Amino acid sequence: MSAREGVVYLVGAGPGDPGLMTARSLELIAAADTIFYDRLIPPGALDGARRDAELVYVGKAPGDVPVGRGPYGHRSTGTSVPQGETNERLVEAARAGKSVVRLKGGDPFVFGRGGEEGEVLRDAGVEFEVVPGVTAGVAASAYAGIPVTHRDDASAVAFVTGHEDPEKAETALDWEALARFPGTLVFYMGVKRLRDNAAALIAAGRDADEPAAAVERGTMEGQRTVVATLATLADAVEREGVGAPALIVVGPVVGRREALAWLERRPLHGKRVVVTRARAQASGLAATLRGLGAEVVELPAIRIEPRIDSAEVREAVERIGAGEYSLVCLTSPNGVGLLFEAMRDAGLDARAFGKGPELRQVGEADSGAGGEVRAGATIAAIGPGTARALTEHGVSADILPERFVAEALVEALERVEVAGSRVLIARAAEARDVLPEALRERGAEVDVVALYETVREQPTDAAVEATQSADYVTFTSSSTVRNLTEALGDRFPTAARIVSIGPITSEAVRDANLEVSVEAERHDIDGLVEALLDDAAR
Ligand code: SAH
Repeated sequence: MSAREGVVYLVGAGPGDPGLMTARSLELIAAADTIFYDRLIPPGALDGARRDAELVYVGKAPGDVPVGRGPYGHRSTGTSVPQGETNERLVEAARAGKSVVRLKGGDPFVFGRGGEEGEVLRDAGVEFEVVPGVTAGVAASAYAGIPVTHRDDASAVAFVTGHEDPEKAETALDWEALARFPGTLVFYMGVKRLRDNAAALIAAGRDADEPAAAVERGTMEGQRTVVATLATLADAVEREGVGAPALIVVGPVVGRREALAWLERRPLHGKRVVVTRARAQASGLAATLRGLGAEVVELPAIRIEPRIDSAEVREAVERIGAGEYSLVCLTSPNGVGLLFEAMRDAGLDARAFGKGPELRQVGEADSGAGGEVRAGATIAAIGPGTARALTEHGVSADILPERFVAEALVEALERVEVAGSRVLIARAAEARDVLPEALRERGAEVDVVALYETVREQPTDAAVEATQSADYVTFTSSSTVRNLTEALGDRFPTAARIVSIGPITSEAVRDANLEVSVEAERHDIDGLVEALLDDAAR
């Protein structure tokens, strides 16, 4: 179900790990006209927003969440907004007939002021829905290996605010009751007043030796857990410099962490890995690495600049429409996306390939008898990612070599007769000439068109700084090697181990006077990750 117009959705974005966003939240973010978001939302939470969606930052502190990180960027504003104004703007947007998402960290109704916003909307006669989120009290604890309830240790759990509204005249917290509470106490916003609150609990009768923990940046990159006792936690937190956001957990369940801590035991925990792919392609690799526990620094060395408005692309698309190509070779997921975009601009879709003349198999009679049945042009792809991108457009590749380099495609194409046929190779501007040369040699008439150019992306100072302590730098193409080494110059983190996706990339690494520590056996992203894991395990 998509987002309804004139409705405000109060949506929980979860505690920070993008993987903990609910399916419903992603669906609504993808559909909304307008999104009002807080500071504590997961990185990339808005990447799926519509290209024309209005993204409005309404956090209480100046915005430090990068917005417009989708492949095309978004319109957005980034100043801090008081609650009253947020309420007004929600009402205004809904009344203007927009579908509105109000995105908040964790759960909107758990210390999220979602209740207040709902009441304001109700008073204004604006319809709203609530989409719960994974709340930090449960999630940060779980990621710290602390079960908030346990059959032996805690039959109840209380979510408590450690920092009350300073404008409230008298405290609503009943320390006696909390001291007597037969279960786990979870304090939100509890770091600043930790010392006072712990003292109040102990004074009211809670055991000073009860295990207690602070979980900093729960479920986010760099999560940290500090364990002590109720009496000593404030000191420990101060000593370790625990900062916001952090959660305080008090109760015997904290002791279970010893057996249940899992986060720190993941294969790449504590390893900082640099991903150098173009932003639009980096997410899959980055997510996989994060899933293995790595701290990922995205340092895109290149950016994709579409070139589909060129005369050569237009001409090629016309030829597709006229059914002139017997063979179409695609070499990257970007190429697939852009070719279809160019085709769409010309009023064409996948059916156009059906008009192309069929290729005969080598040694096959002219009638085509005995050959496999194909509808129109033969489609060849390098790499499973390219094939997947084709599938998304309703086309399954006829030829998909096992190795993911141009040479392998040349080999795979040996089983079709290309002499006298017109072939389209649609790819990046700066690709190698192995494939077109081989096909021309076999008598094909080859059109090579550049769908995009990869241009250098100048990394931000912050990103470069973050790479300095990297354990690994991953390279997935020779162009990223060249561009990144040139962009970084003597700030390239030479102490990091370099993981290369395959021989051509490795060659570029060596050309840059760097050493390849690990080369993937399978030349795709999974192969790269496997190689990195093997190396880290050693
Ligand atoms: N609605 C949110 C809570 C907002 S109050 C939710 O349901 O999670 C903000 C407080 O939540 C912070 O001060 C901190 O105590 C806690 N918090 C939020 N995200 C956190 C995280 N990732 N790790 C630890 N604590 C977090």
